[in-house]
Amino acid sequence: MTKRIIAYCRLKPFHLDQLRQRFHVDYFETLQSTDDPGFREALGQAHGLVGSSLVISPALLDHAPHLKAIATVSVGYDNYPVEALTRRGILLCNTPDVLTETTADTGFLLIMATARRAIELADLVKRGDWTTSIGEAHFGTDVHGKTLGMIGFGRIGAGVARRGALGFGMRVLYACSSPKPELERELGAVRCELDELLAQADFVCVTVPLTPATTHLIGKREFGLMKPSAIFVNIARGKVVDESALIAALEMGEIHAAGLDVFEQEPLSPESPLPHMTNVVALPHVGSATHETRDAMAQRAVDNITLALEGERPLSLVNEAAWGSLTP
Ligand code: NAP
Repeated sequence: MTKRIIAYCRLKPFHLDQLRQRFHVDYFETLQSTDDPGFREALGQAHGLVGSSLVISPALLDHAPHLKAIATVSVGYDNYPVEALTRRGILLCNTPDVLTETTADTGFLLIMATARRAIELADLVKRGDWTTSIGEAHFGTDVHGKTLGMIGFGRIGAGVARRGALGFGMRVLYACSSPKPELERELGAVRCELDELLAQADFVCVTVPLTPATTHLIGKREFGLMKPSAIFVNIARGKVVDESALIAALEMGEIHAAGLDVFEQEPLSPESPLPHMTNVVALPHVGSATHETRDAMAQRAVDNITLALEGERPLSLVNEAAWGSLTP
């Protein structure tokens, strides 16, 4: 029997064709909600899901009696109920590694753009307001030689720190659940408590996954501990930060600037003050959004779902405990 999968994100014909060679594919190029009647109908028969961005709730799984595997086209898996999936023996696969360097590039892009006020000054030129030589009021702040504080020191965190330490001569501090002796040796990074990092860092960059423990990890108290000259960068998930506390900290000058790729609500509401602040660089969640990396992520997801539904071990499995429950 040909297995059925639902693809609920935009995929290139090259990737869709690979799936269609093996599976019956219900394709939803854009899907706004899991309440979509067509999606619900397909879900009742689906053995696999490939997608990202939508929240898959435990209750939704009741409508998916044949589901055996999910391949998310992302490394973060906060949209999925991992425990409920594991209980049901449903494999959850993600796309680590292939997006690490691109997302680290985005982190450094935000560090540079905020420090050197690149967007604000490019806008000034675009408006025709470059009428005389630029004075102190428009000067930026140096990145090289400063202290970079990494919150979370996994794949992407190490990538950002590597750029800072090796490319810009930055001192690296990190706060993380576990020590990273190899990175300490490679980069001279120093592990410290979160509060100490916040007090010392010139640039604070968040790269932890969104979990119950990291929800609103950075809020009013934490912004209060940062230097008034600190630049805050978030390339992890919006909900790791209490966004109203961030807005207040920026408005009150408790911190100097922020570079943000992720927000509590996405897409960001036009009502949000954040994109209107000159000291904020706001990007539309494009950490991994290059042609090369998005292709590699889609390919990893295609490979993951194919292997999982054919009874082989996927390349990147989130819930190891569910492995072994599939029958080919
Ligand atoms: P990773 O390798 O698993 O790194 C996450 C790091 O965070 C690990 O070092 C982990 O510690 C640490 N950590 C977890 N919980 C913590 C806590 N409560 N306090 C302190 N440290 C904690 O993951 P990654 O590949 O670097 O990706 C990180 C996150 O980036 C993803 O989960 C995703 O949400 C986000 N992301 C965003 C974009 C974007 O487009 N903006 C793109 C890709 C990823 P241990 O090492 O001890 O486990």
